[in-house]
Amino acid sequence: MRVTAVQVQARPRQGSPRPIRDALQALPGAGGVEVVVQTDTGVSGHGDCSFGRIAGAPQALATFIEQVLRPVVVGTDPACVRGTHQAMLRETEYIGYTGLAAMAISAVDTALWDLLGKAHGVPCWQLWGAVHERIPAYAMVGWLNYADDEVQAICSRAVDQGFRAVKVKVGYPTLEEDLRRIEVVRQGVGREVRIMVDANQSLTTAEALRRGRAFEDLGVYWWEEPIASDDIDGYAELAAALDIPVATGENLYAVQEFGRFFRRGALDIVQPDLRRSGGPTVLLEVAALADAFNVPYASHGSNAAHMNVMACAPTLIYAETGLVAPDSPMRLEDGCVGLPQGPGFSWE
Ligand SMILES: [Mg+2]
Repeated sequence: MRVTAVQVQARPRQGSPRPIRDALQALPGAGGVEVVVQTDTGVSGHGDCSFGRIAGAPQALATFIEQVLRPVVVGTDPACVRGTHQAMLRETEYIGYTGLAAMAISAVDTALWDLLGKAHGVPCWQLWGAVHERIPAYAMVGWLNYADDEVQAICSRAVDQGFRAVKVKVGYPTLEEDLRRIEVVRQGVGREVRIMVDANQSLTTAEALRRGRAFEDLGVYWWEEPIASDDIDGYAELAAALDIPVATGENLYAVQEFGRFFRRGALDIVQPDLRRSGGPTVLLEVAALADAFNVPYASHGSNAAHMNVMACAPTLIYAETGLVAPDSPMRLEDGCVGLPQGPGFSWE
């Protein structure tokens, strides 16, 4: 089997009338890119990359895949997906493997694994060998620009849907505002539901330490991205000083960056992102590293591809989702979702 074509389509922006906000940025929605890899046997694979912001990103990514990655991938054997991943990294080394390059590699890597699963007629978690048959999920629903009553209502709705953990954004100008937000959510969800908080890189290390201690006292389950994502010294300091688990990883690229954070003890929970990591190939390596360093794995976002990886992550604790939409293929039971059952990365 050989790859004969890589088709790329930029998906136009699906703008939201009311952008959601975290402590770092507004997220009005900005479309995405879809990749289809075709083969000489007729089997094809699908990958994509979506953007929460930056309207020009989809077209830039599509051009990058067409002009830089397509020549590397066409003609390869899809069964050698890890070798193709290495070849894509070599091709992009001159301009750097992070940012758009990583997202482009991820979209193609996802399509190649999807193709391989479909060629064998099984979900990729069966190809890899799973650890888990179901995945605990939490709902990231508490955006920073929601009013108190709004955030209380949406967190309560998540609990009504069956979630046993919710995440809210913090990183307001003062600690007191953060504490009030957590108290409001606690009143809405009750004592049994876990609450995680996320400051999206907005604080200094000293302030993150001070707020982390206050969150510990409230029984918050984890303290996510309190400081700049690449501040490995700051993360090592926070992880050593705080009892509350420090979670990060959604803005790390490639397995080498994850390796540096694991070696330094700079995180208590790792949260890799499918797009930025470089695709399922890298997520599987991060999952193995997390096992080696005894670090729990919690996803940043969760589509069918990442769900397949999570099924095989030995230290998995959580998938991140939003509220379950009426048309979603996900079904919650005991706070967990079942695995996608379709070939490759498809749900059905
Ligand atoms: Mg986050």
